[in-house]
Amino acid sequence: MKFSCDGEPSLSNYGRGCRCDLCKSVKALYERERRSRIRKEHGPIQPKKPSGGNRDKPVPEPDAFTRQEILRARGMEPSRS
Ligand SMILES: [Zn+2]
Repeated sequence: MKFSCDGEPSLSNYGRGCRCDLCKSVKALYERERRSRIRKEHGPIQPKKPSGGNRDKPVPEPDAFTRQEILRARGMEPSRS
């Protein structure tokens, strides 16, 4: 006995056995969303690394002054004792 959704396609009607085009598309949509949800739960897809080197990377500089630099900035020479 074949079930027909009788013009009301839905996932449950598909589950009852209706295989009309609309029910099949509802099912396909559901499967697609389910798969994408599973993908999200299993972590994001690794982003592609940008090709090319990092030659424009600036040279790291110290972000703190040394004692001598502070003394020089104050107009004082480091003690030479
Ligand atoms: Zn149907």
